[in-house]
Amino acid sequence: MESYQVIAIIGVLIFIYFIFFRNKKSAQKEINKLNEVEYNSTSNTKFNDVAGNYEAKESLLEIVDFIKKPDKYKRFNARMPKGVLLYGAPGTGKTLMAKALAGEAGVPFYAVSGSDFVQIYAGLGAGRIRTLFKKAKKAGKSVIFIDEIDAIGKKRVGGNMRGSDEGDRTLNALLTEMSGFSDDSGIVVVAATNRIDTLDNALLRPGRFDRQIEIMLPDRNARKDILNLYLEKRNSDDKIDVDKLADLTVYFSGAMIENLINEAALLAIRESSEKININHIENAYLNVIAGTEQKNPTDNKRQKEITSYHEAGHAFVSRYLMPENKVIRVSIIPTSKGAGGYTLSTPGENEVVTKAKIKKQLSVLMAGRVAEEVFFGKDNVTIGAQNDIERSTSIAIDYVAKYGMDESTGFVNFNVMADKLNMSLNSIESSIKKLIDELYFEVMHIIEKNRDKVEEIAKLLIEKEVLYESDLNNI
Ligand code: ADP
Ligand code: ZN
Repeated sequence: MESYQVIAIIGVLIFIYFIFFRNKKSAQKEINKLNEVEYNSTSNTKFNDVAGNYEAKESLLEIVDFIKKPDKYKRFNARMPKGVLLYGAPGTGKTLMAKALAGEAGVPFYAVSGSDFVQIYAGLGAGRIRTLFKKAKKAGKSVIFIDEIDAIGKKRVGGNMRGSDEGDRTLNALLTEMSGFSDDSGIVVVAATNRIDTLDNALLRPGRFDRQIEIMLPDRNARKDILNLYLEKRNSDDKIDVDKLADLTVYFSGAMIENLINEAALLAIRESSEKININHIENAYLNVIAGTEQKNPTDNKRQKEITSYHEAGHAFVSRYLMPENKVIRVSIIPTSKGAGGYTLSTPGENEVVTKAKIKKQLSVLMAGRVAEEVFFGKDNVTIGAQNDIERSTSIAIDYVAKYGMDESTGFVNFNVMADKLNMSLNSIESSIKKLIDELYFEVMHIIEKNRDKVEEIAKLLIEKEVLYESDLNNI
């Protein structure tokens, strides 16, 4: 063998070894990196560090007690949730809340993020879940936090298990681990997501993440609390008008408010001011909204006003047509279900669905848009009714095509007709439109006749942003 051949072979061997070794090393590095995150396991955060979110805190307080005294629950054989799902917009304090849960209970906090599992080497995801739980179990009581759970827990295509998929393997490992520890272990798994609608149903079943808590964008009162919390922490002028700032920060998340006050602090430092003053905050405000989808203050104010009338329309017509269904909550702050919203008391599951009820339901859905039209004029209605229109169209189609409730089309199912007679569905279009138009006209009449009442609700909404049943009773 010539010496150059030997050298070449050695070179190739070194090359192969190098690649192999390097790969192994970087995989090892990846694992170490991931493990480090998990080791970050103490939490000094307390519920006092979380402002607003009053209902969510209440719900978590019970879990603190459960972690601290699992025996108490065991005596009654009460099953406490193993998994808590926090869902809502980004920056609303879900991570903070989970940390506070661990901090209040005085137990270690293990945090991972679903997105870390996505580009991971095959098989590592499931292994990592097992390691995580092993560690938590060794610590005894603890809070395991999985951020962005949707990254590993997306709805499965076709609804069946595809064990080959890396995501499925990770998810299955998680579900197995969760059913593997006993109810009185004092371990609670908290997961967070911005998108509960995309989650695999397997995650939401009893014994898994069966306690689901919505973390909402802060309403005016909550924003005042968050503002006060950070203004106090950051050395600010006590002449700052928090009410005014609460108005200015409509549609902000907690994280955006924190960021606003932090930016203001930086400005104050740059100017060598003693304290943060209102000018710092106003200037910081412009910087902060420049980098987000936030509208300018004038647009925000306009948006808030129109949404208030829109929601007032829904709330009023609901009370007017269906007094038996209580309006529990009306809000103009966007939730995971859409822009603003009203919550009706849930009618009994076995409630009889009648033609009259469906018509009322349709009317309530239309009332938002109708109120916009009545108070702002036909040409100034907004896209805020998009979801209402989607729902009412679908209900109206069923009314005519499925339930045989429309008098002119009669007792027929149009899917069957279209199928068997090979005809198009166009013939029912006019019936659907007629139904909608008639009801729309009726709702218009109701709102015009009760203009002052609807306006009163809207004005109160502008002031408070959230109204409860008792507020509406007063009107
Ligand atoms: P999420 O997990 O919902 O995306 P985070 O918990 O990561 O939100 O929030 C980011 C930061 O924003 C927090 O560390 C905190 O500084 C601030 N923050 C958000 N919501 C609140 C709140 N309700 N009270 C106090 N601070 C908040
Ligand atoms: Zn609406």
